[in-house]
Amino acid sequence: MLQRGATIGLLGGGQLGRMLAEAAARLGFSVIVVDPNEDCPAARFSDRHIAAAYDDLDALDRLAALCDVVTFEFENIDLGALEHLSGKVPVHPDAWALRVTQDRLTEKTFLRETGIETVDFHAIDGAPQLAMALADMGGRGILKTRRFGYDGKGQIRFGGDSDPTPEEAWDAIGGAPAILEALAGFDCEISVIVTRGRNGETHEFEPARNDHEGGILARSTVPCGLDSIVMADAMEKTRALASRLRYVGTLALEFFVMEDGRLIGNEIAPRVHNSGHWTEAACSVSQFEQHIRAISGWPLAESYRHSDCVMTNLIGDDITKLPQWAADGAVRVHDYGKRETRPGRKMGHVTRLVPR
Ligand code: ADP
Ligand code: MG
Repeated sequence: MLQRGATIGLLGGGQLGRMLAEAAARLGFSVIVVDPNEDCPAARFSDRHIAAAYDDLDALDRLAALCDVVTFEFENIDLGALEHLSGKVPVHPDAWALRVTQDRLTEKTFLRETGIETVDFHAIDGAPQLAMALADMGGRGILKTRRFGYDGKGQIRFGGDSDPTPEEAWDAIGGAPAILEALAGFDCEISVIVTRGRNGETHEFEPARNDHEGGILARSTVPCGLDSIVMADAMEKTRALASRLRYVGTLALEFFVMEDGRLIGNEIAPRVHNSGHWTEAACSVSQFEQHIRAISGWPLAESYRHSDCVMTNLIGDDITKLPQWAADGAVRVHDYGKRETRPGRKMGHVTRLVPR
């Protein structure tokens, strides 16, 4: 168990890192963030910032020498670099969790082995294979790069009037290893955030209902409005996933909810997740503090939700409306402090609370 004043190393200094650093500071820890961007959102909430690439082994060695434990805020870290670091300092979650979840093929296979249903899928390594897989799926499906996708990037849908040819689609995703997934006709999307401690204890937050716009999360709503049996099923499945991964820290599992209440596992995020930001405003403990507790070997906190809520992402120019949101006393606002506003960039979020 980490003692007061211990140091946590954090790979990635975006908004997730910033909220993790804030939680760590409150528990009495120091934070050293590694991020190539000099002006990253987490730097101003950390004790120290090493501006280096994530695969810069010299920088990682410096980090290891200064830290008691290392964690990360995003999953596209070079596996070799994380394994290198693991030889020098405890890393949570571990490289195996990253290996399973970095690649959509191993991720979906792992979900199935855990007893969680997924959509049908084919591994795709070239245009001819894509053509065959599309024929098998009746010309409908969604092509995704196996790695490095987020916010709907690296995805192409088939089944409309102006589909690209398999060759065009393969070129458009950069000829990278991919999967073709069957399209799920879901009723809604939910996610469950679970934290698992070093001693195997787990804590789940209740599911949030997630609405996407243009492939990017727009809103998370709690309670999600589903039947309590479906909610319990989602929480049980997410807990089983964390246990089978022998995971330490906070993770998110996204589900498609079918009309009959059947749950289809879509994606695992081996980290704190945008769809859990509401916990910071509406619960007695946030996903961020639970993560810091878990990786530090602390007991997890009991949590209860004191408010119903809707979390809305402020994307691009939405950030200019922050003062209007803040004028509503029921709204908790969060500005990530990013200097440059770009379309599609997550700039902040707001959570509107309705006491229960
Ligand atoms: P990422 O979040 O990494 O960009 P996802 O796999 O979560 O990738 O896809 C983003 C969104 O696209 C999902 O939240 C969902 O709305 C939609 N989507 C993804 N896969 C499917 C699918 N197989 N069927 C229907 N909709 C999908
Ligand atoms: Mg997703």
